Amino acid sequence: MQAKIIDGKAFARGFEADMRRRIGLFEKDYGMVPGLAVILVGDNPASQVYVRNKERACRRIGMHSEVLRLPADTSEQALFEKIDAYNANPAIHGLLVQFPVPAPLSEERIVARILPGKDVDGLTVENAGRLFSGREGLVSCTPRGVIELIKSTGQRIAGRRAVVVGRSNLVGKPVALLLLRENATVTLCHSRTENLAAVTSKADILVSAVGRPGFLTGAYIKEGAVVIDVGTSRVEGKLKGDVCFSEAVEKAAFITPVPGGVGPMTIAMLLDNTILAAQRQVK
Ligand code: NAP
Repeated sequence: MQAKIIDGKAFARGFEADMRRRIGLFEKDYGMVPGLAVILVGDNPASQVYVRNKERACRRIGMHSEVLRLPADTSEQALFEKIDAYNANPAIHGLLVQFPVPAPLSEERIVARILPGKDVDGLTVENAGRLFSGREGLVSCTPRGVIELIKSTGQRIAGRRAVVVGRSNLVGKPVALLLLRENATVTLCHSRTENLAAVTSKADILVSAVGRPGFLTGAYIKEGAVVIDVGTSRVEGKLKGDVCFSEAVEKAAFITPVPGGVGPMTIAMLLDNTILAAQRQVK
């Protein structure tokens, strides 16, 4: 079987068109557009690229965006003052601090300072708890993107066997919870899972978020599976996924490429979360 490639970039652009329309409606109703603020501390080159991509995406869909660039030696107190100002700013509906932050700043303490209603990365304990208990909240962007990409294939999720490899709070765990919400039968694997290939090769839906390039070879994939590769590792200057694409493409029914799969959807979901946050705040 030759897998269909899930074009995350094209799918994300389709999403953007719909978001542009929703922003227009929001502006008509409330006389302003949803606003996203990003705080970048220090000069991590990868973070600078991510932040630029977010700014560009905001421009493409007509969303208000502010980027605050702070020096690497910014104190926690100074950073908290900026977060508090955005928390209180009615023109800003979504707020995130780009991670990683330079030491000794604590990501946990930073996240806890952001108002849960503006936490468009879905990282606060409040939003994680809401996802856990099935209540409305803001869900982190990459996991939301994964679910949208699976749905884009038209394949049924309910009742199917879904395997997630990786159990981070950022990706693996929320993906597993979202698949459960969609009524899949979910198995969550990690570095201590015994005989991983025996588990993954039974998966109708396989999501990998590990960060080991090419690690899931053809033997890990079930014939006809939907394979979503979240992993991104830099190998000789190129982005590589967790899945050995050349082998998996011969077995899967649908597969995301790296780059051009999950990555573009992560930004689209960030913007979508900002619109959702704005709609809830004006209510
Ligand atoms: P992480 O916090 O490092 O978690 C990696 C997970 O993989 C852990 O749960 C770990 O298990 C598991 N793991 C490690 N080796 C394994 C093995 N041999 N077999 C099975 N599981 C193994 O990483 P993350 O933040 O979740 O990110 C995962 C990957 O996704 C990275 O490559 C990251 O760059 C990428 N990512 C991409 C996007 C995007 O937008 N495309 C967004 C976020 C992340 P233990 O818990 O047992 O250690």
